[in-house]
Amino acid sequence: MSQSALIVAKFGGTSVADYEAMNRSADIVLSRPDVKVVVLSASAGVTNLLVSLAEGQPDDERQHLLKNLGQIQYAIANRLRSAAVIHTEIERIIENVALLAAKATHSPCAELTDEIVSHGELLSTLLFTEILRERDVPAQWFDVRKVMKTNNHFGRAEPNIATLAELAQSLLVPLVNDSLVITQGFIGCEENGLTTTLGRGGSDYTAALLGEALQARRIDIWTDVPGIYTTDPRIVPEAVRIDEITFEEAAEMATFGAKVLHPATLIPAVRNDIPVFVGSSKTPEAGGTLVDNQTRHQPQFRAVTLRRSQTLLTLHSLNMLHARGFLAEVFAILARHNISVDLITTSEVSVALTLDTTGSTSSKGSLLTQGLLTELSSLCRVEVEENLSLVALIGNHLAEATGMGKEVFGVLDPFSLRLICYGASSHNLCFLIPSDEAEDVVRTLHKHLFG
Ligand code: ASP
Ligand code: MG
Repeated sequence: MSQSALIVAKFGGTSVADYEAMNRSADIVLSRPDVKVVVLSASAGVTNLLVSLAEGQPDDERQHLLKNLGQIQYAIANRLRSAAVIHTEIERIIENVALLAAKATHSPCAELTDEIVSHGELLSTLLFTEILRERDVPAQWFDVRKVMKTNNHFGRAEPNIATLAELAQSLLVPLVNDSLVITQGFIGCEENGLTTTLGRGGSDYTAALLGEALQARRIDIWTDVPGIYTTDPRIVPEAVRIDEITFEEAAEMATFGAKVLHPATLIPAVRNDIPVFVGSSKTPEAGGTLVDNQTRHQPQFRAVTLRRSQTLLTLHSLNMLHARGFLAEVFAILARHNISVDLITTSEVSVALTLDTTGSTSSKGSLLTQGLLTELSSLCRVEVEENLSLVALIGNHLAEATGMGKEVFGVLDPFSLRLICYGASSHNLCFLIPSDEAEDVVRTLHKHLFG
């Protein structure tokens, strides 16, 4: 088989949540012969348990969390024919987690967190490989850390693309030719051999990176929703599935809060022009969304997204009046604190900006640290506003369209808009509103623009 016909398929946490879900996912893999590499998340709930353990817990809480972890994984293992063998293996892994979690109780740290958290993907891939073997499929478990070499930014490591490509060619390609490869999403390995993670939700990113390294024909992302919707169907039940969408629009959606794809996923896909399919492993026959370079239609309005818990910083400086370099200083401070700015508006003596919280690190924690505030305060007066939500209208040629103001803002009359960003991108129009009004704003816009 030529390499470029290969498909990388990724299954998220709910698609490997239990024995039934794993078998449904296995059905999908087996009915698509071009799928040669399978990337898995941890079973649903497992990463959260492991993150809690990594934070360091008192004895009884630790035992409780470990028991929950065992319950999820043994419930799958016990359904296998070779239950005894696999049971022992899982026991060994969970014992290891217990040891590490005890260590975290004394001295939690980012390195230890990644090491602990990585066990979720190790467990799910082990179980899934066994399910396939019991179905007489030649499947190989592959430790992705052999190829996914990253920097040591624990909790949100970045892979070395060139090394990945080389190692994938030498280590993965030979395997792919005679068996199905089952491997872990989300995890990697730094220079000294320590385990890293790519950030919460990072398994999609892994799939795309492997797709790039193997020059895949397509990347399939199997999740619990049958594709990308015009908005979150939990907020607007009338939301409709989008059959085809461009990379640009999908990236905007992911960045501005649509949960379907990890925002970084699309970067390797775009770089290599590899289409990404998103579908539900519960209802594969329902089809899904294809994200591609080109689509037949490019409607003016494509979707409305919502991102909650936004922090707005307003920086006031009288020195800014006719001054130069104030923004440069602000950005330098933010960069030193590893923060990327999201929305920004300026006036003559102040600048308002939101902090980009997408793809937060594996361990929780606020971006707005005391250190950052202190540094900013030495430069200007800082005001912090919380409880805001960002609503983004995604579409095409927005910045050039006429009548936008009336069409969009006309229906938003009853709401308070705290900040508006429009004009930098022709694919989005963003605004910040009080969180308690956010869902109403989404419903109103969706009804008016997509109804
Ligand atoms: N298991 C990881 C998480 O829950 C990675 C993923 O699911 O993509 O964040
Ligand atoms: Mg996930």
